[in-house]
Parts: sequence; structure tokens; C-alpha cells
Amino acid sequence: MLTSSKKILEAARAGHFAVPSANFVDAASLKSHVLTAEAMGLPLIIGLAESHFGRFFSIEEGAWFGKFYAEQVKTPIVLHLDHGESVEMTKKAVDLGFTSVMLDASMESFDVNIEMTKRVIDYARPRGVTVEAEIGHVGTGAKYDNDSDNIYTTVEEAAKFVELTGVDSLAVSIGTAHGLYKGTPKINFDRLHELAAEVKAPLVLHGGSSSGDRNLNRCATEGIAKINIYSDFMVQGAKAVYDLPKQEAVVEDYYTIKDAANKGMADMLRHCYAVFETKAVTL
Ligand SMILES: [Zn+2]
Repeated sequence: MLTSSKKILEAARAGHFAVPSANFVDAASLKSHVLTAEAMGLPLIIGLAESHFGRFFSIEEGAWFGKFYAEQVKTPIVLHLDHGESVEMTKKAVDLGFTSVMLDASMESFDVNIEMTKRVIDYARPRGVTVEAEIGHVGTGAKYDNDSDNIYTTVEEAAKFVELTGVDSLAVSIGTAHGLYKGTPKINFDRLHELAAEVKAPLVLHGGSSSGDRNLNRCATEGIAKINIYSDFMVQGAKAVYDLPKQEAVVEDYYTIKDAANKGMADMLRHCYAVFETKAVTL
């Protein structure tokens, strides 16, 4: 069932678990995610990032296929625009039927971030679409050890941002980074606890991939309501193909390769559900 993220994230916040936001890049990854969620009877956010438009899926294809698969199943599915880079793109996603949009204006000044986020909310909320913003900046894992582009979220700014904008959920930077890591992520759990206590909106963690099960379980149960996973699906999908016994991995056998990739991604999502302690949500 296609839905916004409102009730799902509130249930996660109240119930001390997190809902995976599984990125998809094409019809196969999308369908694998939705069918796995349905088989588990658990809610799922399926995210298409603006930076991935055009590689396999345009925003229109993401919207059409996303709505189609979400409407085929009973479990709650949120079709989410991940890292929308402009107000215009988030509006376009709303018009196309996305039920949740993220505006990433985290590299703008605090005031500009607020102003842009408000414009997105003014458009999305009357249309039943939830909005995620980001304060602080979640950088890239490849730069993690030195030369990091991470900017940690402060409690004061995050609380003030939510108060001034009324945004539905807030992505915070507490030590994770996008992609795979150079070095090991050090997550600031004290900061997470303070944010969870002071910020009046569900918190979102970006850069969940390869952050470590123990870290992610603690994030999910100690204040984060949504955890974004992208790279781990791509890596596990590919690994399942590489791991095929030699005689099965004949180049001609498109079916074998696709089945293996789907299984790799489905195993990954089941693993996320276990680590995040995701619970069923009744809407
Ligand atoms: Zn992100």
C-alpha cells in the first residue's frame, strides 16, 4: 500500500525501532525491495536519489514503477525522493506521486535551508506528502579518515530548525558517511541521545551502509527512526552474482544472474530489518 512516511516514522520513534529506507536504481532492485517487505509484513521506504536519475531510471520511471509495485502489496510502502537538490525537483516529485520528499539544502546557510524547506513543505503538505530535511552535513565515506566533509549536527540548530519549519523528519550528522568507508565510523551516541530528547521530529540516519550492525542497532533503538541504505544493496547484489558456482555463472544465463542479484539484495533487506528491529505498523 502506498502511503506517506508520517505514521510509519512516528511509530518507529515511539517504538524505538527504525524503518529501512532502501534505495533502488532500477525495476529489479525496486521490485526485490517491495516483495521482501511484503513477505516480511513490514513497512518500507523505497528511495530514489536525484543523483541516480538517468543511469537506469528517470524520475518519471521511478514514480510510475514505484507507485505500481507499492499498490500491489498490503504492507505500507513509502515512495521517497532521496537527496532532492532543488525546491523545483521536490515539487516535481510530489506532482509525479512520490509520497515523501527530501530536500537536501544542508550545504546552504541555516537561514537559506529553513527558507527552502518551508517552500517545499508549503507545496507538499496540502498534497499529503511528507518532507525530510538535513541539518549538519553527512559527507562521503571515501573521505572519512582524513579530509572529512562531515559537519556534525548541533542539538540547538536541529531543535530550532524543526521548530521554525515544522518539517516531518530530520536527517542528522552524527558520524556516519555516504558509501563505503575508508576507516571505521565513530558514531557520537551522546549527540544522538541529546538530539532524540530535544528534537520534536523523527530523526533520519544517512550513510547506513557498512556502518556496522552493532552501531546501526544502537542507532535504531536509541533514537533514529529511518536508516538509509544504498551501497550495501549494490555490493550484496553484485557479490551474490560473483559467488555463483562457476558452472552456473555462464554469461548467457541472464536469469541466473538476475535471480542471484535479487536474492543478494533480499537477504540484505532481511538483515536490515533484523538489525533495525523493525516492527509492523498499522495505518
Ligand atoms: Zn544520504
